[in-house]
Amino acid sequence: MTEDQQTITHNIARIRERMAEAAHRAGRSPENISLIAVTKYVDIAQTRSVALAGLRDLGESRPQMLWEKSTMLEGESIRWHLVGHLQRNKVARTVASTHLIHSVDSVRLLKEINRESKKIQRVTDILLEINVSNDKEKHGFLPAMIGEAMDFISQLSHVRVHGLMAMASREGGRKVAQQEFAAVRNLRDRLSEDQPENVSLDELSLGMSGDMEEAILEGATMVRIGRALFEKL
Ligand SMILES: *Cc1c(COP(=O)(O)O)cnc(C)c1O
Repeated sequence: MTEDQQTITHNIARIRERMAEAAHRAGRSPENISLIAVTKYVDIAQTRSVALAGLRDLGESRPQMLWEKSTMLEGESIRWHLVGHLQRNKVARTVASTHLIHSVDSVRLLKEINRESKKIQRVTDILLEINVSNDKEKHGFLPAMIGEAMDFISQLSHVRVHGLMAMASREGGRKVAQQEFAAVRNLRDRLSEDQPENVSLDELSLGMSGDMEEAILEGATMVRIGRALFEKL
């Protein structure tokens, strides 16, 4: 094993412990929480090491990097997740190479994903990103706008919504993060009362290296972990 692989293997074990401990506190089963390894900080070799260490759900925040890595690591049975902003001119290649797009943040983008997916006759799995802190600098649907988006989504034949995604605000620390994650869960519960047929809201993609515990306490089914995976021992 290379030094990188040792580090990654060690870090995965620590992350799994943190996840299990938080799940235990929340009275949840750790099996119901997926670890998405965000590989945006590292090169192809280290990204391959993550897959070799047994993680098969990998995330990138830039579409071009996702395309590049998915091409170079074909054959590693990786399921690619896009977690960062997607511009409309990058939709075609992204729908062809992505398992789940976490960061769908506008009706215009939804429309384009539907159009490009129809062309290649597939249904694209997505999450709706929520701008939970109402921050103008951030991407995502404002909670107040999401009801309207649902009506529109019901007309899309080649998009399937599986849940919601959010990032906590940078400032505020863990306590604020937990409140924001709780707000996303409440929004999900409200939307679930009247959801279109091509929408299920089972998945909540919440939590990163610094706030995965809070996310799990508030019902995250996916955590997106970067830094904690690569930090040196
Ligand atoms: C980078 C990134 C992550 C991972 O964050 P870490 O703090 O490195 O764990 C998760 N989600 C998104 C959207 C990201 O851009």
